[in-house]
Amino acid sequence: MNITVVGAGYVGLTLAAVLADFGHKVWVVRKDKEKNEALKKGKIHFFEPGLEELVKKNLKAGRLIPTTEYSQAIPFSQVIFIAVGTPSLPSGAVDLSQVFEAAKEVGKNLSLEYTVVVNKSTCPPGTTRKVAKIIDKFKPTKAKFDIVFCPEFLREGSAVEDTKRPDRIVIGIESPKAARIVKEIHRQFKAPILLTKIESAELIKYAANSYLALRIVFANQIADLCEKNGADIGEVIRGMGMDKRIGLHYWYPGMGYGGSCFPKDVAAIADFAKKKKITGSIFAVMDKLNKKRIPQILKRLENNFGSFADKKVGVLGLACKQGTDDVRESPAIKTIEILKKKKAEIVAYDPKAVENAKKVLSGVVFAKNPYEAAKNADCLLILTDWPEFGKLDYGKIKEMMRVNFIFDSRNILEKVKIKKIGFKYLGIGR
Ligand code: NAD
Repeated sequence: MNITVVGAGYVGLTLAAVLADFGHKVWVVRKDKEKNEALKKGKIHFFEPGLEELVKKNLKAGRLIPTTEYSQAIPFSQVIFIAVGTPSLPSGAVDLSQVFEAAKEVGKNLSLEYTVVVNKSTCPPGTTRKVAKIIDKFKPTKAKFDIVFCPEFLREGSAVEDTKRPDRIVIGIESPKAARIVKEIHRQFKAPILLTKIESAELIKYAANSYLALRIVFANQIADLCEKNGADIGEVIRGMGMDKRIGLHYWYPGMGYGGSCFPKDVAAIADFAKKKKITGSIFAVMDKLNKKRIPQILKRLENNFGSFADKKVGVLGLACKQGTDDVRESPAIKTIEILKKKKAEIVAYDPKAVENAKKVLSGVVFAKNPYEAAKNADCLLILTDWPEFGKLDYGKIKEMMRVNFIFDSRNILEKVKIKKIGFKYLGIGR
C-alpha cells in the first residue's frame, strides 16, 4: 500500500520504518527541514536501538520517503497515520494543537479517492471525532475518508521490536471498509487484533498507561513500608508476584514514574475525569503522589548523608530509563534540578542522553565516563537503570571518591557486595 505517517518522532518514524520494511511505500512527513535533510541521509535526531539500520535499509530500497511537504505524500496515500506529540498543558490537560494542525493539513491535501486516516497520537476520548471534523472542514468537497484510532503501545528503548511484535493491536473503528484496510496493514504484525468503538480505543491507551503507572506508585508505597520495618522490596515483590493473578513483571520501585508518556497520560486522564465531574479519581491522587516522590527521597538522602550544599554529587544516568536518550520528564533531570537549588555541584554521565540533557540543564558538568563522574565525589547517585552501571568497578570508584556514599535508585547493585567494598549504601525499600 501507499502510506503516509505524519510526525517523525519515536512513534511516527519507527512505524514508518517498520511499515516500509514490510514492503509498503511510506512517506514520513515532518516540519523541520534540517532534520528532514539529515533523515534523507539516514541520520535520526534521537536514539532508538535498531532504528537507524532499518531507516537506512528502507531509504536505500526507496520504500521510505522523508518529506516536509504534505502535498508530496497525502494525495498518493491510501492510509494516513497521524503520530504527532500530545504534551501536557500546565493544567494537566492535553495540548492537542499538533494533532489538530496535522488534521488540517491532511484535510487540505486529501485526494478525491477514498482514504483511511488513522490517529495514533494519544488523545482523550472524543478527540478522534474532532480530528474527523477538522479533516472534513478542510478537505476537497468530493474527497471521501474514514477515521480510525489505533493506540500505540511501544516502549522507548525497544520501539522497533514492540512495533513489529506488539502484544495486541487495538483498532477503534466504525466503518467496515476501513476496518478491512487497517486490519490488512496490521496482518504482518502477527498480533491479536481487537476491534472496538473509537472512544474505547482512546480510553484503552490511557487505562493501560495509568495502570502501569499505578503499579509504580504502589511499589513505591510498599518500598516505603519495607524501609520502616527492615523488609526487602525485592523479596516482597517476588512473594507477591508469584501469585498468577498479580505477576512478577512491571514492578519498578524507585524515584517515581517518568518519561514521555506516564506523567502526561496520568495527568490527562485525571483532567478528563475532573471535566466529566467524576470526584475522588485515583488518577489525580497518583499524579500528586508521584510529584512528591523525588523531594521525599531527597529528604531521606539528606537525613543519611547530610546537606547537599557545596558537595560534589556524581550522577549516573540522565535518560528517563535505560535504552533511550529521551530525557522528557526524566526523574534524573528533576533530581538534578532540585540538587542544584540545594547548591550541590553536579557531575553527570549518561551513555546516550547527554546531548538532550544539555538542552534542558545548565550549570552541570557532563562527564565522559562513569568514573569521571565519581572522581572526588562526596556521593554517587544512580538515577537510570542502564545495565552497565551494575557492572562498573566499584573498588576503583571507591578509591576515586572523596566520601563513599552511594544511592542506588534502581536497586541494580548487590547491596551486600557494595557494602563489603566499603560504601555506605542506600537503595529503595531494601
Ligand atoms: P515526538 O515528540 O517524539 O514526535 C512527534 C513529532 O511530530 C515531532 O517530531 C514533531 O515535530 C512532529 N510534528 C508535530 N506537529 C506536526 C505536524 N503538523 N506535521 C508533521 N510533524 C509534526 O512524540 P512521540 O514520542 O513520537 O509521541 C507521539 C504520540 O504517540 C504522542 O501522542 C505520544 O503520547 C504517543 N506515544 C508515545 C510513545 C513513546 O514511548 N514515545 C509510546 C506510545 C504512544
